[in-house]
Amino acid sequence: MDRFTDETALVTGAGSGIGRATAQRLASEGANVVVSDIDEDRGEDVVASIEDDGGSATFVSANVADPDAVQRVVEVAVETYGSLDIAHNNAGILTGFQDIADIGEDDWDKLMAVNLKGVWAGMKAELPVMEEQGGGVIVNTASEAGLVGMGGLGNYVASKHGVVGLTRTAALEYADRGVRVNSICPGVVETPMTAERLDTAEFQAFVETNTPMGRPADPTEIAPLAAFLASDEASYITGANVPVDGGWTAH
Ligand code: NAD
Repeated sequence: MDRFTDETALVTGAGSGIGRATAQRLASEGANVVVSDIDEDRGEDVVASIEDDGGSATFVSANVADPDAVQRVVEVAVETYGSLDIAHNNAGILTGFQDIADIGEDDWDKLMAVNLKGVWAGMKAELPVMEEQGGGVIVNTASEAGLVGMGGLGNYVASKHGVVGLTRTAALEYADRGVRVNSICPGVVETPMTAERLDTAEFQAFVETNTPMGRPADPTEIAPLAAFLASDEASYITGANVPVDGGWTAH
């Protein structure tokens, strides 16, 4: 499939896990990919992997919690490739498992700055460019934690419910301006974010108990959904927050 030939895609948090898999998937289908991450080594490694496979990519370092930095990434995308057709606002962090009363203010602020403000900062920079050029597609990364509550993850759950709400609102605002906005809502995925926890019997049991399919996902099982939502095959889908969670939210 070559669904994205000559299109420009920006992926944040593209240095690892889900973002890495989506950047590679979009590039493999013809997109020029702007790989953005706060971690330069990881980002450059993804660019190298895309180029090794014959694709086209550029790394731009940015902290998504800094709207000026995100604005510069969008400018580089347009300067380098001439447009911004797809944006995958994906960067996110987890601060740990704590009951709401035990979450520290620092952890609350740090997580919200990346997971929620970062998605807003992305859309703030991307939407005007897409509107101006006559269209575009945004795929935010929310989570199953954006659709249901989860004990011990109060700040994460709140941030991802925020991403779901922002996604719906951006879709409403831009439906008649040529921009579709959706989110993916993954269940537990084996990435560096979850690696340490998945090594513990307790967390493995938590995943197995709550996931009807009984296992975590591989990032390559998430990227195809992001690519589908970014493609013209999803031309009538906007404002959707789509689970890809092995059945977790079917409970
Ligand atoms: P990951 O830790 O493997 O990758 C996250 C990437 O984001 C890293 O490369 C990191 O350097 C980058 N990053 C972190 N803070 C950043 C910042 N401030 N600015 C720019 N880049 C930053 O994590 P992942 O599991 O691939 O998670 C990606 C997204 O998917 C996140 O939004 C996460 O909340 C969401 N998600 C993950 C899971 C899961 O189980 N892994 C489940 C549902 C949703």
